[in-house]
Amino acid sequence: MQIYDTLDKKLKDLNSNRTLNIYICGITPYSESHIGHAMSAVIFDTLRRYLLSQDYKLKFVQNFTDIDDKLINVAKEKNTTIDKISNKYISQHLNSLSKLNVMPADHAPKATEEIKEMINMIEALISKEMAYEINGDCYFRVNKFDTYGKLSKRNTDEMLAGARIDINENKEHPMDFALWKKQINDEPGWESPWGNGRPGWHIECSAMSMKYLGQNLDIHGGGRDLIFPHHENEIAQSEGFSDNPPFSNIWMHNGLINLKSEKMSKSIGNIISIDDLLQKYSAAAIRMFFISGNYKNPLEYDDAILISNEKAINRLKQTLNLNSSDSLDELDPDKFINKFNQSMSKDLNTSLALGSIFEMSRSINQSFNKNINISKSQLALAKLLNILGIDTDSENETNNNLDTKEIEDLINLRNKHRLDKDYKKADEIRDKLEAMGIAIYDSDDGTKWRNI
Ligand SMILES: [Zn+2]
Repeated sequence: MQIYDTLDKKLKDLNSNRTLNIYICGITPYSESHIGHAMSAVIFDTLRRYLLSQDYKLKFVQNFTDIDDKLINVAKEKNTTIDKISNKYISQHLNSLSKLNVMPADHAPKATEEIKEMINMIEALISKEMAYEINGDCYFRVNKFDTYGKLSKRNTDEMLAGARIDINENKEHPMDFALWKKQINDEPGWESPWGNGRPGWHIECSAMSMKYLGQNLDIHGGGRDLIFPHHENEIAQSEGFSDNPPFSNIWMHNGLINLKSEKMSKSIGNIISIDDLLQKYSAAAIRMFFISGNYKNPLEYDDAILISNEKAINRLKQTLNLNSSDSLDELDPDKFINKFNQSMSKDLNTSLALGSIFEMSRSINQSFNKNINISKSQLALAKLLNILGIDTDSENETNNNLDTKEIEDLINLRNKHRLDKDYKKADEIRDKLEAMGIAIYDSDDGTKWRNI
């Protein structure tokens, strides 16, 4: 399989002969996760599922940045501890992702539980003069890392213009970035050789990825917004520490989600949470939406597409449920499987892969009408959908929350009215169910229902 590397700006092969080490930057759990987090999680989950389907072995690590200015501020506002805030949002986040059929990471380290590794790394960088301490704060000496800027392709002037110096900062050079921050007042702090304090954001990911995956990653991933400064700084620290480049063979970045052409952000207040979305649409339709374009590009949020995805999922489900003939004349699925694999193995081209899934589904329907045996193709279609994490049986939560017993009681009552030939009353119940978001249909083995 080949993946586009942001640093070398080209497609690179993945090594299939050994376990692949994959590290993805995780969330800062200070508020409810939004659909941008969900999209990134679904894209990397799709990569993971595809690699596993191709018999790659991999180790997948995604961290939680559970110490950070934003978390400290929220804890202060709510008059509670950062642990309480982060634990609440971490469990909410994991719960939302599992509803989206995202597989849990092999390791999901929390920054606050890996402080020792971060301190060790900072000490080593200081002893190599790549970092320094001033008054309990530690900084990375950017001028000591020759290739600083290589990932984001920024030159020094551009980076200088963007560098921000806080009033209290005493660093040697404006571009130097914090590795360790001295404890201020009652903020959380850990013991260190430089007094009580807490790690900077960037060193957390360098230390955690190295602890769980070693000095050379196969893929380091995250949203495009992390390229600078976060990933640029991770490279400087990690390669400065190890002298064993490259820190990652491939840097894989997903595009961000836009709402009405605006970047979704807390400051603009245009946030849609994962759970809001799951109330409206099935996990399958949401996943299909997230992978409908090129993962590197921005994606425009669009309810119309989600609604049409919902219909597409229903059609796929109907195709999977067709009763195949047992004719010896069989529809061969290989052509579609090959097309799917070709698309996926070339930089995770999910939109083309979805195209071959729809093509396959149409071909199954046509073959069914001609009495051709479709069972092998139906099985293959289900497998391909599973690689994309698309479960056609997933429902949106609003309907899931409906009382199943209430629905079935109403259906039984309707059937009783029909037996009594009281069709007016029977139709009234059908209308009532429809208003509840439930469609019913009569089949040979009784009345069935599904969410609309
Ligand atoms: Zn990170």
